[in-house]
Amino acid sequence: MATKYAFFEGSIVPIEEAKVSIMTHAFNYGTGCFEGIRAYWNETKEQLYVLKLREHYERLVHSCKIILITLPYSVDEMCSMTLELLSKEGFREDTYVRPLAYKAESGLGVRLHDLRDGFAIFATPFGKYIDKEEGANVGVSSWRRINDNSVPARAKITGAYINSALIKTDAIMNGFDEAIVLTQEGHVSEGSAENLFIVREGKLVTSPVTEDILEGITRATLIALAATELGIETVERPIDRTELYVADEAFFCGTGVQIAAIAEIDHRPVGTGKIGPIVTQLRDLYFSIARGEREDYSRWVTPVYTAVPAG
Ligand code: PMP
Repeated sequence: MATKYAFFEGSIVPIEEAKVSIMTHAFNYGTGCFEGIRAYWNETKEQLYVLKLREHYERLVHSCKIILITLPYSVDEMCSMTLELLSKEGFREDTYVRPLAYKAESGLGVRLHDLRDGFAIFATPFGKYIDKEEGANVGVSSWRRINDNSVPARAKITGAYINSALIKTDAIMNGFDEAIVLTQEGHVSEGSAENLFIVREGKLVTSPVTEDILEGITRATLIALAATELGIETVERPIDRTELYVADEAFFCGTGVQIAAIAEIDHRPVGTGKIGPIVTQLRDLYFSIARGEREDYSRWVTPVYTAVPAG
């Protein structure tokens, strides 16, 4: 099913009407923030579940604070609008939701202050982000991650994604499925658009939030799940490049990528080169919660339909 509507300039409109001018500040200078939210279709329950809805809007508020965008709506209001939009679309498949907050004014002048802000949401059906979710072939990028003192990775800023795009395209052109990127100092930061975990000596290890990563919602979810469901501790500490080569398991996580096991890094097999036991368990848990199959985690998902949607 194709996208039919958008939330744009204060109301839900047909998608064809949700247009901005080429003079828009955000289009010229990348002065916007965005989110990426997934909703999972549960065929048995005929229900669409939005995963960690509130957490995404809370992060949008943080991103906007960093680049001086004043959101016209509260987190609660944005959550309600998202549910209203999804319900109107009537999707019966896995869906991706894209909220955007941006400098909406027309005209020139590189700055953040004294500019009108805009807010929009659209949603679109969306499947896998990486084809080889059960064993990606990954390289360490020759590009470096943007730094907090130049372009903060903590904020999900539209213009900042040129860094991710350079990393991703370079990886694909070099025959990889994805890339891992290092910080300016040379520590492991994350993937092009996903966080990274490795397993060493039975513990999960992930870069701390001070290593120019996006403070991922999936990352936080997995840290919590590993502790409570698997009794596995996560150590947040700087990771060296060569630790990637000796890790027992490695995987990407993020709303888009979901949980993708890494089979090979820089032509070296990760562990046995086959999907490992910890990432397998985390994937099973994550998907069952996301699809609304776990009553004990129902607080993490928000159902879209109050009644069964029209076919
Ligand atoms: N890092 C980057 C650069 C990303 O774009 C994303 C995707 N939003 C992530 C990490 C993962 O974040 P989350 O789990 O919140 O989707």
